Amino acid sequence: MMKTMGLYVHIPFCKKKCLYCDFPSFGSMEEKYEEYVSALEREVEKRGQYYKSCQISSIFFGGGTPTVLSKEQLARLMLKIKKSFFLAKDAEITIEANPGTIEKEKAEVLKKIGFNRLSMGVQAWQNRLLSTLGRIHTIEEFQNNFQVVRKAGFDNINVDLMFALPTQTFGDWKETLDKITSMNPEHISAYSLIIEEGTPFYEAFQKGELLEIGEELDREMYHYAVSFLEKRGYGQYEISNFAKAGRESRHNEIYWQTEPYLGVGLGAHSYLNGNRFHNTYDLDKYILAEGEISLLEEEKEVVTKEDAMGEFMFLGLRMTEGVSYESFFSRFGVEMTSVYGAVIYDFVESGLMMQTENGVALTARGIDLSNQVFAKFLLD
Ligand code: SF4
Repeated sequence: MMKTMGLYVHIPFCKKKCLYCDFPSFGSMEEKYEEYVSALEREVEKRGQYYKSCQISSIFFGGGTPTVLSKEQLARLMLKIKKSFFLAKDAEITIEANPGTIEKEKAEVLKKIGFNRLSMGVQAWQNRLLSTLGRIHTIEEFQNNFQVVRKAGFDNINVDLMFALPTQTFGDWKETLDKITSMNPEHISAYSLIIEEGTPFYEAFQKGELLEIGEELDREMYHYAVSFLEKRGYGQYEISNFAKAGRESRHNEIYWQTEPYLGVGLGAHSYLNGNRFHNTYDLDKYILAEGEISLLEEEKEVVTKEDAMGEFMFLGLRMTEGVSYESFFSRFGVEMTSVYGAVIYDFVESGLMMQTENGVALTARGIDLSNQVFAKFLLD
């Protein structure tokens, strides 16, 4: 059977950097777009030569904000990918698009060149919170852009939300969930704000200019989201991801199931044939390398069987269906219980994990304490 893998394409540009963001992306760098796209085309072409015998089951253009590129640049990239790789007929092809970077014509071109899923970052419904976060858009722009992409034919849309934001009230969060679900996207991601070192938010928190909202309210908001989204027809299939039936993100499932994926573009990570590596994070170096793979790859490491088993467990447990005994055995040739029997026993006893029909999964309490659980699956 032909091997399959996911393809991640990184576009490291945004109009302007959000105040909480530590993703590898640059604001206000329009002058680099063209050089970057050319270098990326070269990388795609060269990588394609290595993976001719692989089928691409999903593509994800992430960032950054891929839609800051022009429709011509995005079309060029897509053409190059289609020419260089063997795409599955039913491949899920997603692009991240922030409000304020997409209009009718661009949306139509995206649809036409093969994107069949679109992911929009909105984060919150209240303009005051959007401005605290340093987002470039208002909620009205989001509403408008959402309709634009719907009309362009996108029938599979994800909306990214955030909670536990400074000054966000429980009422704000309820309103966000209510309004967003009324717009009827197929998929919703809801992440709690993490204050990352090196961001303007981190400094503001250090100086006491912004206040964290506290663990208790954070958990309350999360639990509310889980039950509210369920009532509105969005099943929770991963700790932070909710979807209508059949609209779960296949690309994300590749990561959680530790299936192989190739990342192209600045700083993009790959996991292939038991090896993990990433491309350089240095934009000038990336551009100058012109796709020469030996100049791009950094920190190549062979993933040991112990590490692979640990990752398989703690990433798999992020999904509500959990990890099946059979999938563990077919991946590693040993029984899950012979490696993790004692750990699983303890967590089941303490109510953080439960036995499912064919394996194990986290309980609701286990989700709240997931970091604690995951750490125990790492083998020395
Ligand atoms: S749009 Fe996304 S990637 Fe860009 S700065 Fe904001 S959070 Fe970061």
